[in-house]
Amino acid sequence: MRKINDEQGETDQSVCGPTCDCRSKAIEDSSGTEATKVKRLVYLDHSATTPVRPEVVEAMLPYLSGDFGNASSVHQFGQKARTALEEAREVVADCIGAESNEIIFTGGGTESDNLAVQGVVHGARKKGNHVITSSVEHHAVYKCCKYLEKEGVEVTYLPVDEFGIVDLDSLRSSVRSDTVLVSVMLANNETGTIEPLSDVSAIAHEHGVPVHTDAVQAIGKIPVNVDDLGIALLSLSGHKIYGPKGVGVLYVRRGTRVDPMFYGGHHERRKRPGTENVASIIGLAKAMELARAEINETSTRLAGLRDRLQDGILRRIDHVRLNGHPEKRLPNVLNVSIKYVEGESLLLSLDMAGIAVSTGSACTSGSLEPSHVLLAMGIDVTVAHGSLRFSFGRCNVDEDVDYVVDSLVEVVQRLRSMSPFNEGK
Ligand SMILES: *Cc1c(COP(=O)(O)O)cnc(C)c1O
Repeated sequence: MRKINDEQGETDQSVCGPTCDCRSKAIEDSSGTEATKVKRLVYLDHSATTPVRPEVVEAMLPYLSGDFGNASSVHQFGQKARTALEEAREVVADCIGAESNEIIFTGGGTESDNLAVQGVVHGARKKGNHVITSSVEHHAVYKCCKYLEKEGVEVTYLPVDEFGIVDLDSLRSSVRSDTVLVSVMLANNETGTIEPLSDVSAIAHEHGVPVHTDAVQAIGKIPVNVDDLGIALLSLSGHKIYGPKGVGVLYVRRGTRVDPMFYGGHHERRKRPGTENVASIIGLAKAMELARAEINETSTRLAGLRDRLQDGILRRIDHVRLNGHPEKRLPNVLNVSIKYVEGESLLLSLDMAGIAVSTGSACTSGSLEPSHVLLAMGIDVTVAHGSLRFSFGRCNVDEDVDYVVDSLVEVVQRLRSMSPFNEGK
């Protein structure tokens, strides 16, 4: 029999609010033979997804019931939905320093990335056929570029340094008169490394090339302003910022040509036809508004937890490599390679201790292929295999970190004692 013991969570109500439902929990497990084993449930995979905030659910609910109108309808049901939709568009635009007519709602981060890259390439056929991207992009950009190569588009994948920062000299020497797009992410989803986007834009602008950035991980963690970044297109996603899944945004600067991926109605300025997902869009806007209001406080607190975890791991476990830039990184992500163990085994053992983390990237953890991001950073294949990503969220507390460090020390000791790699130690 299991009993959820909420007591420990109550200490952080001031941070999380009394309705926080993602708070880590201590669990009394009396099924063991020993007296009572106490363990916690610790979710440290916020880069993969986040729980929907109660305030967001509340904002969405009316649009899932009474206010169900189609935002394209002329009658009052439709107009109510239209008004709410346009208000949400203004909130989203305001959060990133854009105009509301530059905001296109999509079905998520993957769709925004594809619409940006394919839409610009297809709209610029007369100008050229060359795209520049980085070698550490999320699959939504990376695989989209791989697909475009099959269509005959030429793609340059810029190298990165050991910290995952894109090489600006390579960018300078790669831009050509037939380059139609530069796509470089703002913050990496595996390592948290933050790319020098305004430098990327400055170089691209000298050649009149528009820049797209995947800001899915950066939104809500670091300030994002489309003019400061100098970009023409930006992708973001609802479910990485405590909003709903299956909804995203593509910002398209006025004057930037993006051909649609689908054809249909006049929705979203014909760039993304299909009846708008009103409830989810309202939820996304609410999540962005909350994230903006709390960004400083949350980022400082999460960086503190991240550093506590990093210190604990480096102090108590040997042969650990920190992946990503030590300073230019998101406040909530820690990526380490623990040598002489397999990331998959670490992940499973931690899961049994109630701890949810990721090995490198959620997208690659289903296969044993090492992460293309870590490989691009020059990390040895076997070392890359032992990589773990911890990503904090607003409801994690110090006790989570201490529990994770203790559990990890135990797990690593056990796995290393059984590991064939151990001899190399
Ligand atoms: C999660 C993620 C995406 C994909 O967003 P979805 O809404 O899950 O499709 C794209 N880019 C980055 C960097 C991400 O972390």
